[in-house]
Amino acid sequence: MSTSLKGRVAVVTGSTSGIGLGIARAFAGEGAAIMLNGFGDPAEVEQLRASLAAEFGVEVVYDGADLATAEGCEHLVREAERRLGGVDVLVNNAGIQHVSPVEDFPVDRWNAIIAVNLSSAFHTIRTALPGMKKRGFGRLINIASAHGLVASVNKAAYVAAKHGIVGLTKVVALETAETGITCNAICPGWVLTPLVQKQIDVRAAAGGIPIAQAERELLIEKQPSARFTTVEQLGGLAVFLCGPGGANLTGASLPVDGGWTAQ
Ligand code: NAD
Repeated sequence: MSTSLKGRVAVVTGSTSGIGLGIARAFAGEGAAIMLNGFGDPAEVEQLRASLAAEFGVEVVYDGADLATAEGCEHLVREAERRLGGVDVLVNNAGIQHVSPVEDFPVDRWNAIIAVNLSSAFHTIRTALPGMKKRGFGRLINIASAHGLVASVNKAAYVAAKHGIVGLTKVVALETAETGITCNAICPGWVLTPLVQKQIDVRAAAGGIPIAQAERELLIEKQPSARFTTVEQLGGLAVFLCGPGGANLTGASLPVDGGWTAQ
């Protein structure tokens, strides 16, 4: 087992599922202590926490803070500092989706998506930065999306939030440029997680087509590789950003999208 992140503490928001869980696994596999976060059945979350700790022999703690509020974001970072001794790596990954034309977009969904997909990163970063600056090291990784770089119909709030997080990433990178801290965005294309499975199911139901056909159509419409990006690939990139190879890589928005945004 590799130990490139031994002695580091990583907070990964929204890590009870999907991409966040994949990144938390990758960090644990490199020896980092992990703060998990996200929603889920308490018994299942505890099983997840315990199995990660046992599999990789690292400390894994969990806090279920709701990142839709500033207080929840501040609480999560402070708990990680209190329980694990500081935050070296912060991955802002928690995210939600709602699909609807702009004139019908429910105002409460707009507000929720902006809060969870964008404002939460502002709140966690501003809370974590003083500790990182004091220690002269930090890795801030924002999980944006291909939708941080280009748009699609019916995703007004999501695309606005993801473009926003790309902008936030650049500002934080500039403000921390001489401090030993880097801030980057990872911009995945389609990844087969519960968030995307919902969109495939809706597409299959709307078109009266089998799930497998809906999945294929969703992929080839945007992603030239016609393959999903995997959570392991995203975990590998996140680990790279935390290592020596990533030390002067900051302010970037890195697409992992099978060519989606090359078009
Ligand atoms: P997912 O639904 O599998 O996981 C989302 C996680 O966020 C879960 O752990 C959930 O509990 C947590 N979460 C949601 N609301 C929260 C809140 N208020 N407070 C705390 N935690 C909360 O989704 P995913 O596909 O793994 O998405 C993760 C991130 O990756 C999101 O930001 C998403 O926009 C982004 N992304 C996903 C894809 C994709 O194809 N799946 C592509 C590009 C970007």
